[in-house]
Amino acid sequence: MWFGIVSLFPEMFDIATQAGVLGRAVTQGVVNLEVFNPREFVTDKHRTVDDRPYGGGPGMVMMVEPLTRALQAARKVAADRTLDAPVVYLSPQGDRLDQRKVANLARYEGLILLAGRYEGVDERVIEAEVDEELSIGDYVLTGGELPAMIVMDAISRLLPGTLGNAASALEESHLDGLLDYPHYTRPENTAAGRVPPVLLGGDHAAVRNWRRKEALRRTWQVRPDMLAQRPLSDEERKLLAELFDLDLD
Ligand code: SAM
Repeated sequence: MWFGIVSLFPEMFDIATQAGVLGRAVTQGVVNLEVFNPREFVTDKHRTVDDRPYGGGPGMVMMVEPLTRALQAARKVAADRTLDAPVVYLSPQGDRLDQRKVANLARYEGLILLAGRYEGVDERVIEAEVDEELSIGDYVLTGGELPAMIVMDAISRLLPGTLGNAASALEESHLDGLLDYPHYTRPENTAAGRVPPVLLGGDHAAVRNWRRKEALRRTWQVRPDMLAQRPLSDEERKLLAELFDLDLD
């Protein structure tokens, strides 16, 4: 998958793309990354990319021209490679990112990620150039670079060939509307406690059942809102009823 990043801080992407799963994906060519710095698309002596807001108020706003040129350069690269690559602006005002959105975005051949700075970008850029606005949560960061890296990281682990064990992408929090079950590894006994005996017995059905139950327990306790949005199977109703002595009929 190709990522065209529009950012004033290209060097920030070095860290994310040099280590871990995303780093390996870049090395193996599963993920390709190109950064388009709006500053490279201006000709004035000071390489100006921001200006004061009309109407007054604090901070600076990213200007239309440098951003538009950088976005068009990214679009051209995508078009030359015949990649379908929508423009996503990372913004606290966007739709909230979740695992379902990550999976949808992973279907594209490419994405152009626009990282804002200062007070944000001139609204006309959003109207003319942006296909989708995406927020990583209800808080405000200083720039869109970390959100862009989060989007790339979450997408890259869904791409074929990036995870050592493809099954790990199939069994985890949020995928089927539940949080993940607890994980344990060797040794069996530590000062911090013992591994639940069911995981040691080799009874695959019992392990599956226990994991399902623990995933339900956690979700019910920590994120009941997730369960409220998801239909429960008969088996899940039974497990929840057992766990919390509930009457769910
Ligand atoms: N004035 C803007 C507002 O209140 O919506 C905030 C601008 S913020 C200081 C600068 C940039 O950081 C934004 O243009 C955006 O790209 C990025 N950003 C900040 N918080 C974000 C979030 N929660 N999700 C995605 N991007 C975010």
